[in-house]
Amino acid sequence: MNIYNYTIKQLEDYFISKGEKKFKATQVFEWLYQKRVKSFDEMTNIKKEVISYLKEDFKINSLEILTKQEDVDVIKYLFKLEDNNKIEAVLMKHDYGNSLCVSSQVGCNMGCRFCESGRLKKVRNLNTSEMVLQLLKIEEDLNIRISHLVLMGIGEPFDNYENVINFIDIINTPKGIALGSRHITVSTCGIIPKIKEFIKDGKQVNLAISLHASNDKLRNELMPISKVYKLDDLMKTIKEYIKQTNRRVTFEYILLKGINDRYENAIELSKLLKGMNCYVNLIPYNETSHIEFKKSDQDTILKFYDTLKKNNIGVTIRREFGKKVSAACGQLRANYKEE
Ligand code: SAH
Repeated sequence: MNIYNYTIKQLEDYFISKGEKKFKATQVFEWLYQKRVKSFDEMTNIKKEVISYLKEDFKINSLEILTKQEDVDVIKYLFKLEDNNKIEAVLMKHDYGNSLCVSSQVGCNMGCRFCESGRLKKVRNLNTSEMVLQLLKIEEDLNIRISHLVLMGIGEPFDNYENVINFIDIINTPKGIALGSRHITVSTCGIIPKIKEFIKDGKQVNLAISLHASNDKLRNELMPISKVYKLDDLMKTIKEYIKQTNRRVTFEYILLKGINDRYENAIELSKLLKGMNCYVNLIPYNETSHIEFKKSDQDTILKFYDTLKKNNIGVTIRREFGKKVSAACGQLRANYKEE
């Protein structure tokens, strides 16, 4: 078992089962995530006997960087997993820090029409360690600290719920990487039962919902998952989330030319979100050669923004990253050719 799969609680339980004090887990976490050692032998304050059974029970694995592409303020990584599957992660440099976009699955089964990842069906879930290692490898490669993390790479995080929650737990652990909850965002296309579970779990991280349309008809056309989880039920669940957590929700809304970017769409969206503790993140569509959708004109984007503003909806326009490096989900992997 790769040790990066273990939360501190799981490691504590492991040590307790070995008749040790649970504090050993904290020590191991400090070695792994603060000092970043790559072998058990380097954990010099842990006695030999413990090291020897740690070596038997665990591995300290890594992740291979296959290629990376750099553009202004953005670096896109392609990693190779142990079973030869490939995943992507994107590092974005903002004025407030370094933000990392991690993948949660190999491929994705949600099938959103505009998304490159949807064309590559889900091969498998990533395990927790494969998410942790995206962060560790990139920090090591660039010799930087990542200050913000978004689960917005390839995959649907709530279709890999347990591993994602454990991943969040690990990077959030104070004696480990200690990334603050408010600097972590998980994004979902709206899997209602998992949002309900997420409310119960009480994680303090941010929740983003990929909305992209403000009525069922259009949303069904863009996002097949919407046929299973209707907009009305989704909104009820999100209102419940806001009530229970007191947290502001982000709605992601990709602007697709002539599809969901009209004045009427903005009005309908404003009505849908009226009075909610939320804001809308308008995403200029990242065009891909395989998919026919086009990006809305700059003028249309600004008008859409203004209409939401006038209707008292909090709104931002996402800064565009990585045009040259095909930063949209799945693009690097889709275009990668084996030598
Ligand atoms: N499955 C999750 C997270 C991954 S996608 C979700 O649906 O939220 C992260 C965000 O990128 C989603 O809002 C998704 O709809 C959006 N996205 C996908 N393809 C895109 C593209 N080509 N251009 C811009 N945004 C895109």
